[in-house]
Amino acid sequence: MKIAIIGVGSVGSAVATAVKNTGLVHEMVLYDRDGVRARAAAQDLGHAATFGFDVKITAVNNYRGIRGSDIVIIAAGANQKPGETRTDLLQHNADVIRDIVPRVMANVDAKHVILIVVTNPLDVMVMLAQSLSKLPPSRVIGTGTMLDSARLRTILSRHLSVSPQSIHSYVLGEHGDASVIDWTSITIGGLSLDEFCRQTHNQITSATRNTIEYRVRNAAYEIIRGRGATWDGIGAAVSDLLRCIINNEHRILTVSTIDGTGASAVAMSLPRVVGASGVVVTLHPKMSATESAGLRRSGRIIHKNYSRL
Ligand code: NAD
Repeated sequence: MKIAIIGVGSVGSAVATAVKNTGLVHEMVLYDRDGVRARAAAQDLGHAATFGFDVKITAVNNYRGIRGSDIVIIAAGANQKPGETRTDLLQHNADVIRDIVPRVMANVDAKHVILIVVTNPLDVMVMLAQSLSKLPPSRVIGTGTMLDSARLRTILSRHLSVSPQSIHSYVLGEHGDASVIDWTSITIGGLSLDEFCRQTHNQITSATRNTIEYRVRNAAYEIIRGRGATWDGIGAAVSDLLRCIINNEHRILTVSTIDGTGASAVAMSLPRVVGASGVVVTLHPKMSATESAGLRRSGRIIHKNYSRL
């Protein structure tokens, strides 16, 4: 299994580290338009690899070096500065995707390659990458709200004193300020959230829900204020997505791919079964009327931003 990472800044490096530690990949190539940075990252990661799985990690200075890659991860582009939203990156990062995707496609096997998009604003970049690559939507996958869903599970887990592994809860829609927490579909140990709280003498009041929603939506802003960027969470999310694809695990992940066709086509996150061929099935979980309206609003915002390109 050979993978390529395009863009080896904070996120690309964290992805490389997390993927290296899975032992699932035998070769990893790193490309960045800053070749010095890519070479330094490959050297550092190569040294780290001697302590763990033996992965061949090379920096390449042109796109021919990514030939033979089964999966290409796009983590290039500007990140949010304190106070910026993901949408503020729209035009700049669209140019980055326009630069990268045609060159990637000229050097990979379009019949089986999978593109993983990490660059923000995520959902719009997925739509752009799919349109430029002409790959089936099922093989152009954005990390979407995987990280937001993980943030929700972590917060709920602390609140309810139960492992996040036992919590099925999803953040859906835009990977951004219009994301939607689907409280209605949450299950823990086969119980609804309310029933779990009743049996365990816990309480989640509407004020607590509001606080949790705020913390999930603002996590990235808080991390960026504190350490300048976010990288560890997304590194782990990409590595988890890769594991799911490489092992054909058919796990349900809240990734972003395009649904619909023509004018109604939009990429956003829904729970999707993911395997070796990419997204296999998309699910539509139970939602309240308010949550459904939130999801439609997410779709409208993503669509509008895409039409600005
Ligand atoms: P960074 O500035 O640390 O690194 C970006 C890298 O991209 C740089 O090394 C730069 O040289 C490279 N680059 C820029 N244009 C390029 C091009 N045309 N071709 C090749 N390389 C190019 O930024 P970062 O913190 O690593 O963030 C990268 C992206 O990931 C941002 O858009 C950020 O918003 C996004 N991000 C997404 C998530 C998510 O959940 N999807 C989470 C965190 C960050």
